[in-house]
Amino acid sequence: MRAAAYGAVSRDSGLVPLTVARRAPKPNDVEIAIEFCGLCHSDVHATRGEWGGQSYPLVPGHEIVGTVSRVGSDVTRFAVGDRVGVGCMVDSCRECDSCLDGLEQYCENGMTGTYGAKDRRDGDVITQGGYSSSIVVDRRYVLRVPASLDPAAVAPLLCAGVTTFSPLRHFDAGEGDVVGVVGLGGLGHMAVKLAKAMGAKVVVFTTSESKVAAALELGADQVVLSRDEAAMAAADRTVDLIIDTVAAPHDLNPFFRTLRVDGALFQLGLPSEAMPPVNPGALIRRRIAYAGSLIGGIAETQEMLDFCAEHGVVADIEVVSAGRLNEAYDRMVAGDVKYRFVLDTGTLHTAAEEADA
Ligand code: NAP
Ligand code: ZN
Ligand code: ZN
Repeated sequence: MRAAAYGAVSRDSGLVPLTVARRAPKPNDVEIAIEFCGLCHSDVHATRGEWGGQSYPLVPGHEIVGTVSRVGSDVTRFAVGDRVGVGCMVDSCRECDSCLDGLEQYCENGMTGTYGAKDRRDGDVITQGGYSSSIVVDRRYVLRVPASLDPAAVAPLLCAGVTTFSPLRHFDAGEGDVVGVVGLGGLGHMAVKLAKAMGAKVVVFTTSESKVAAALELGADQVVLSRDEAAMAAADRTVDLIIDTVAAPHDLNPFFRTLRVDGALFQLGLPSEAMPPVNPGALIRRRIAYAGSLIGGIAETQEMLDFCAEHGVVADIEVVSAGRLNEAYDRMVAGDVKYRFVLDTGTLHTAAEEADA
């Protein structure tokens, strides 16, 4: 079957109408009619070839929400009509220690990304993502979307949500902790909502004066303009855990100075260019841990969705049609979105027809 999609045909083509092949469901597969797909900054990095080694055509999208349209003969946990989600991975080896520990994102043999990855069970096939009308995914990598949550606003939880939930949980953030969130974009605004729902106090560090009021509205207890040296100095030793979501190279040393003894900074953003060097003294003098974190495991993603249902947490979104995807990418890079664009895949066919006319 071929599905309507939008994707890049080269690193500078922008997103154009395409079709992608989707396999007929195998016994353990779930076929999903996609309703919404979030636009992650990783989609921009990937489609524009900023991380290198990209093959084209490439259909991005790993914040997928839709309804089950068909199931394979061995699938019992999902039925046609169920609302489901797919995040950043669609497969892993299922045998290594990481996979057996529910840490499929750290699969020792390499997890299979939702797009742009070699399908490990199907020879030459390269996976294609959620800017598409349908997708077929092994049931083990399909999540249940709680019925109480708006499906469009749930989509960003599948990447931005779990990517911030996972380090917050790893640090055991909660009441009595001060969580710093650096960068108020798609990931950053989810970090604010999740940390607040876990009972922590939240300080937002932003480069954008225009986001100060919005950050407070989101629930932040305090906002610091990170380019204001005096404000940063005043924040010295006030924070326990930093979730850094900035998509571009930036100096981390001023942020280490805001941490208390035994604090930690988790870097989630993956800029394409080198970062300024970290000053080891800044880490050593306060026993600070500088860590990274990649999305979350499948069970943890389900736990995050259920946590969000319990606490009424979803993303703040702006829904876009397929014809406006390129404009949305430019606005995301310019920081002009509060806080996540979500593609309405119902517009894929009309946009493709208009492009043909
Ligand atoms: P986003 O919505 O574009 O937000 C990034 C934020 O970074 C901006 O809103 C901005 O916040 C801040 N920023 C400061 N200077 C910037 C600059 N020169 N260029 C761009 N942003 C700048 O991006 P996102 O979707 O949240 O993704 C953030 C990063 O995380 C990306 O690098 C993405 O690839 C990565 N990511 C990693 C994982 C993982 O598993 N580790 C998962 C998903 C995404 P202020 O205006 O508040 O300063
Ligand atoms: Zn993402
Ligand atoms: Zn594995």
